[in-house]
Amino acid sequence: MNGTVGQVDGQQVPRYAGLTTFARLPRIEDVEGYDVAVVGLPFDSGVTYRPGARFGPSAIRQGSRLLRPYNPALDALPFDLARVVDAGDIAANPFDIPEALDQIEAGIGSLIGDGRPFVALGGDHTVALPALRAVRAVHGPVALVHFDAHLDTWDTYFGAPCTHGTPFRRASEERLIVKGRCAHVGIRGSLYDRRDLLDDEELGFTVVHCRDLERIGTAGVIERVLDRVGDGPVYVSIDIDVLDPAFAPATGTPEAGGMTSRELLAVLRGMSALQVVGADVVEVSPAYDHAEITAVAAANIAYELVTVMAMGVRR
Ligand code: MN
Ligand code: MN
Repeated sequence: MNGTVGQVDGQQVPRYAGLTTFARLPRIEDVEGYDVAVVGLPFDSGVTYRPGARFGPSAIRQGSRLLRPYNPALDALPFDLARVVDAGDIAANPFDIPEALDQIEAGIGSLIGDGRPFVALGGDHTVALPALRAVRAVHGPVALVHFDAHLDTWDTYFGAPCTHGTPFRRASEERLIVKGRCAHVGIRGSLYDRRDLLDDEELGFTVVHCRDLERIGTAGVIERVLDRVGDGPVYVSIDIDVLDPAFAPATGTPEAGGMTSRELLAVLRGMSALQVVGADVVEVSPAYDHAEITAVAAANIAYELVTVMAMGVRR
C-alpha cells in the first residue's frame, strides 16, 4: 500500500479486514499527493433534536468497505481518474462552536490548497458553513445544491446563530453562495410558518419540494437543478435526512415522505457535468441505525460525489 494510490485489493485482503478508511483508500499520510480528499468532520454540537452525528464519519467509512473501483452508472474508474485519499478527521472543539467552525474552515482550507475538490463526512449540518467559507476563499462565491428535508435557512435557535438549522442563512448573508444559483431539493415536512418559505426565497433559493418528485420524476429534478445552478463552481450539501427514514433511519431530525436512495443517486449522476468543487454528506447519527442501512446509503452517496469530482479532475 505504501506510496501507491488506489484501494486495498479486495481479492488480496478481505473487505472486512484492515484499517477502516473511506472505500479502503490510502490515508493522506501514506501517499505523495492527491487530487480529491475525503475528510471526516466529527462535530455535532449544533444539533437540535437527536444527537450523535459526531460518530457519522467512522460509521460512513465502515459502511464504505464494499465500494468497488468501477462505477458502471457513470462508466468511470474514479480512483484511476484521480488520486483519492482519506484525509482523516478534522478535530473540532465540541464546547465552543465558533472555535470549532474556525478549526473546520482552516482544516478544509489546507486540504483544498489551490482548488482540489473534497467530500466532507459529517457531523451535523453546522459544518457546511465553515466548509463554504473555505470554498469561497479559493473559488469565490459558488452555486449551491442542497439536498435536505429541511430548508436550514432559519435565523437562530435558542438565540444561537450557528446551528444545524441555520448554515445557509449565514452563507447567504456572508455572500459565500450566489443568490439566484441555489436550490434546495427534497424539502418536506411541517414548517413554523409560510414566512419560512418567503424568507428562503429572499435569501436566493428555489425549492424542489419532495412532493414535486412524483410529478416530474428524477429527470425533472435534474433539469430544474441544472437550470438553476448554471455554469461555474458548485458546492453540493447532502443532509442524509433527504432520504425517507426507511432508507436512512439514523439521522437527527427524520421526516416522513422522503426520497429513495435510488432517486438521490440518479439525481447526483445527472449532475456529473457540473464543476463540483466541494461537497458534504451530513447528519448520519449511527446510534439510530439498523444493519448499517444509513451508513451504506451515505457511503454510496459519497462514492457518487467522488466519481463526479474525479471525472472533473480528468476533464
Ligand atoms: Mn435535515
Ligand atoms: Mn440539514
